[in-house]
Amino acid sequence: ESSPYRHEPVEDWYIVGEEIGSGHFAVVKKVVCKRSGTEFAAKFIRKKRASTSRRGARREDIEREISILQELNHVNIIKLYDIFEDKQDVTLILELVSGGELFDFIAERDVLHESEATAFIAQVLEGLAHMHLKNIAHLDLKPENILLTNRAQAVIKLIDFGISRKIEDGKNEIQMLGTPEFVAPEVIAYEPLGLYTDMWAVGVITYILLSGCSPFLGDNKQETFANICAVDFSFDDEFFGNTSDLAKDFIRGLLVKHPGRRASVTDCLSHPWIKPINDRQKEERKEAKTNLERFKTFNARRKWKQSLKVVSLCNRLSRSIKNRNNMNGDEAQEEDEEESFVLRTLFHCIEDSNLG
Ligand code: ATP
Repeated sequence: ESSPYRHEPVEDWYIVGEEIGSGHFAVVKKVVCKRSGTEFAAKFIRKKRASTSRRGARREDIEREISILQELNHVNIIKLYDIFEDKQDVTLILELVSGGELFDFIAERDVLHESEATAFIAQVLEGLAHMHLKNIAHLDLKPENILLTNRAQAVIKLIDFGISRKIEDGKNEIQMLGTPEFVAPEVIAYEPLGLYTDMWAVGVITYILLSGCSPFLGDNKQETFANICAVDFSFDDEFFGNTSDLAKDFIRGLLVKHPGRRASVTDCLSHPWIKPINDRQKEERKEAKTNLERFKTFNARRKWKQSLKVVSLCNRLSRSIKNRNNMNGDEAQEEDEEESFVLRTLFHCIEDSNLG
């Protein structure tokens, strides 16, 4: 098998340490480069073995994620340093981000003025502007994918380019679903996605950051989708009592059904909420406060939902065990790997959610 990636064991070059995260087909671990002593994050992506297999990432998806990461070079976007490949995994050596999720950092604060919130949103926009200039859409922007380098400097890094796409001719015919709460109307309507699809997500994230409420969240997925399609949101005084008009105007420009009329990343970067042009606007931002009390509740609920992942992993494990009858050697080995993968992820989730 020939591939442009390094066919040496990762362990020859890096000391592999603790697990720091996991996703669908990937485990992320902290590693230290043996030569330089520098720390990195290694994302071990499990390859799909057979085209019929339910597990592992498809080669074309892995290669797409890699080529997108290779094209990007910006302070607010995770950097890719090296790529290894063995029989089981493709491993990405990434810049290590150790400050956790932006939303967790904010939830620990006592007050957050709008002027501080805009500093965070501006960094998200700077990262996006770099991507959009190269016609790359992230397509999975959500709180889980906005991390901080460390808590002292609080530099934002966007991660997880697993479903990102190069957008040709301004739009892309691909169909996919991100996370219900954050997807744009065109995603639900199976219409072409584009750079504008990310801008909708920025609107939802900003709305939540300021109010602690999720603008379209319904009791179930269908209700959420219906709310999104109807662009059914408002700035309820109960939650937006301390929010500036500039901020509301910024959000209104993004939560627009028609992709062509939605604010672009450059529109956003020059919006007075992000870049005030006079003292009155600066003052307006400074006086306004985010609804941190409610935001803390929102974030706790979000964390709780993440821990529900445990339940779905348990189901996956029990399915795997049930599948064991009537299996040949190869399939049984794949099942072994599935079980150890699920168990590892499960332990990790339990650790994270304080259930353990
Ligand atoms: P998903 O299935 O959710 O799309 P994924 O398999 O594409 O995930 P990532 O989202 O890239 O994997 O990474 C999984 C988790 O690992 C992240 O949510 C994050 O907590 C952690 N992580 C990823 N990259 C880094 C990094 N460079 N530094 C620190 N932690 C990271």
